[in-house]
Amino acid sequence: MVVAPTPQDYHRILSPTLKINTDATLSLPVGILACQRDPLLRVLETTVVSVILSQQTSSTPAKKAKKAVLAPTLPAGPILEVILHDTVIFPEGGGQPSDTGVLRSKDGSTWTVAQCKRHGGHAVHYVVVPSNVTSDAAIEQFASGTAVTASLDQADWDRRWDHMSLHTSQHLLSALLETRLNLPTLSWSLTAYPSPCYVEIPRGMEPEEVQSIQDEANRLVYEGHNVHVEVQELDQDQDHSKVITLESGRAVGKGLPSDYTGGVKRVVVIEGVDSNPCCGTHMPSLKNLQLFIFPHTDALSRSNTTSARLYFVAGPRLITHLTSSHNLLTATSTTLSCGAPLVPERVAQLSDERRRADKRVQDTESELAQLVAQGIFTDFSASPENQVFKKHIHRTDDASNTLGFLSAIGLAFDNLAKESVRDYLLVLSSSPSASSQTNSNVVVVLGSIGDLVKSTGEALKAELGAKGGGKPPRWSGKTIGVWKESMNSKMESILTAL
Ligand SMILES: [Zn+2]
Repeated sequence: MVVAPTPQDYHRILSPTLKINTDATLSLPVGILACQRDPLLRVLETTVVSVILSQQTSSTPAKKAKKAVLAPTLPAGPILEVILHDTVIFPEGGGQPSDTGVLRSKDGSTWTVAQCKRHGGHAVHYVVVPSNVTSDAAIEQFASGTAVTASLDQADWDRRWDHMSLHTSQHLLSALLETRLNLPTLSWSLTAYPSPCYVEIPRGMEPEEVQSIQDEANRLVYEGHNVHVEVQELDQDQDHSKVITLESGRAVGKGLPSDYTGGVKRVVVIEGVDSNPCCGTHMPSLKNLQLFIFPHTDALSRSNTTSARLYFVAGPRLITHLTSSHNLLTATSTTLSCGAPLVPERVAQLSDERRRADKRVQDTESELAQLVAQGIFTDFSASPENQVFKKHIHRTDDASNTLGFLSAIGLAFDNLAKESVRDYLLVLSSSPSASSQTNSNVVVVLGSIGDLVKSTGEALKAELGAKGGGKPPRWSGKTIGVWKESMNSKMESILTAL
């Protein structure tokens, strides 16, 4: 992608006393870094101001996945904290995650910058020391005063471009929500690629509201409004941690972080649309953005307020989103052998058919249970009257609920047998049709004599390795593995021995 350079008038210094210090022994404060003056700059020759071995250990996020903003994690092993005179690698801030990047030292070796963070007013690069380099040798490469090149390689740049697209889109979206619908942005999240980002607003939105905001945002994108940045010295007497309020009374963005000591106040202006204090890197124009808002909002309930999340995608992430959605739809329509527009109807139809088929299977299974019970009852009636009727039946079938099916047979038999004063012991087992070592075979024992049921369960555990239990007159359990013919004979001898 060929990108026109950032226009000369993108970065505007409003206070005459604020200068970009060229003294290479000092680091420029966050607020006027090269990545903030020229968001499209990818390579910068600069100088090391300081280096130390980081005391931070590899970062495993404490609250995993709770925080949506992605921060690249630090690998295990030694890490250097390098401060440069200036940098194109953005330190996290304003809701925008840290860049990843590369430093090239004087001997031509390349070093990965896994994270860049703001400490007070300065950008600190977390440089990974490779396993074949000692920490001392690494520190030597970054001795203060050494010339290095800071850059964003292709993957770093793609990541940054994505972040910029979404961050500038968020400013645009928040401005429109505020001015058109009086909906302030309570927070926003630049989620990990390629998930949609979101702004949190005080209430859910109607579909027409979503549509009108999206239409207007895209109109402004087509018009290609320019974006520029205004910086001035921070008036130390004012409390800048407070949210700045415009004359209209509308609060703009968040105040400066309380630990910010860079001495620079920075405002991002979308010309004719919005003006908002922010330290992030922003596209010089809206023209490449495109903005898509998801026409649903998630309501969030907190103790006493209900806010909502409005999801959006823009720039390259929008293309990724459209591509993956299209691929999913195409794959589904191929499976269903219908055109994409018919997919919802076909899926609804299949789901309905499935419900009816499930019902039919249930009905058929309960009818089958009656028939099997009937068969056992015929044997029961024909067996010698002065003995306990003992019977094992093994079934090979793939019932949706095997235990339920065997229990239904048992219950149906019990209903028939209870008219008689005779005792019985019934063992029902079932294995799936595919024979596999991981098969789970279900065994149910029922009878009219509780103790007999109990001792049968004990025998199954001891001789067939079954696991199970239950309250007499019922025992249920299972065995794992292929159900062999020999197990049926074993079952016979167990019943005979009891
Ligand atoms: Zn911002």
